[in-house]
Amino acid sequence: YDALTNSETVMPYRADFDKAQRRKLELANGISAALKSDNQLYLVYQPKVCLETRQIVGFEALLRWHHPKLGTIPPLDFIPLVSQTTLINPLTLWVVREVAKTLKRFEALNVHLPVSINATTTNLVDDQFADHVSTILFELDVNAELIEIECLETEELLNNPQAVSTLDALKHQGIRIALDDFGSGYSNLKYLQRIPAQVIKLDKCLITNIDKDPDGLLIATHLIQMLQSLGFEVVAEGVEDATTAAQLEKLHCNIGQGYFFYHPMPLEEVLHVLNRQG
Ligand code: C2E
Ligand code: MG
Ligand code: MG
Ligand code: MG
Repeated sequence: YDALTNSETVMPYRADFDKAQRRKLELANGISAALKSDNQLYLVYQPKVCLETRQIVGFEALLRWHHPKLGTIPPLDFIPLVSQTTLINPLTLWVVREVAKTLKRFEALNVHLPVSINATTTNLVDDQFADHVSTILFELDVNAELIEIECLETEELLNNPQAVSTLDALKHQGIRIALDDFGSGYSNLKYLQRIPAQVIKLDKCLITNIDKDPDGLLIATHLIQMLQSLGFEVVAEGVEDATTAAQLEKLHCNIGQGYFFYHPMPLEEVLHVLNRQG
């Protein structure tokens, strides 16, 4: 019995577990410090373009964290962890405030393009979230119609009444709701009737190689048609080449986003591009 409990298969697991727990704690503490320091976090903005005209029709704000010791940490290395703690709430509100300030800078240039913000399920199940967002927009005098909230499709989200009422409350303020990464997980198509979203973002995996894969092309064709018939605006994510962009345009997909058009860029560069676009 002793030999079994002390076996090597048990110990490494515990060690790994502790290591993961330690990292989570370290990152959570780090984010907490970053929120206070205000020079470790910043946003980059990735344009979204109309596939037909190639004009910029909006942006997505993406969080970057420059850790004083660990260097730049990609969002997927810390957001899922932070999202398991309530720290995700001040973090997302920090993003909302930064985006609101950016919208004021756009306004000064007479640019009225929407910016989207990513929110997690933890944000949406917080019954204060919609009010906090509303307060920030009011304080900074920003038109809610210029804000879009992107959320990930999860069963947890739609089966949680608080999350759904947060989405409704945001929508009621005039904020647009987008369903992010559609098609990347277990997409229950039935949810499309219930999600209070106006925009569906097709995950990169659905549109990559549509020019070489006839079945993939069929799926994309009919999916775009179906979503548009249901009244959604469709955004294709992860467009990396001219062929894919042209195909999506032929399929009448509304909007494209991806490295082929623009990479995410710092605000100063965005302002420069907007000046050039006129
Ligand atoms: P997402 O919301 O689906 O954002 C799209 C991600 O794909 C971004 O990665 C973007 O830089 C990347 N991307 C854009 N175009 C292309 C392309 O053509 N090809 C490829 N391969 N990738 C492309 P990023 O910035 O690393 O963000 C990753 C994820 O982290 C986001 O996925 C989002 O879920 C999350 N995230 C980022 N910022 C925030 C934030 O402020 N709050 C929350 N809650 N999540 C965030
Ligand atoms: Mg997104
Ligand atoms: Mg996405
Ligand atoms: Mg994603």
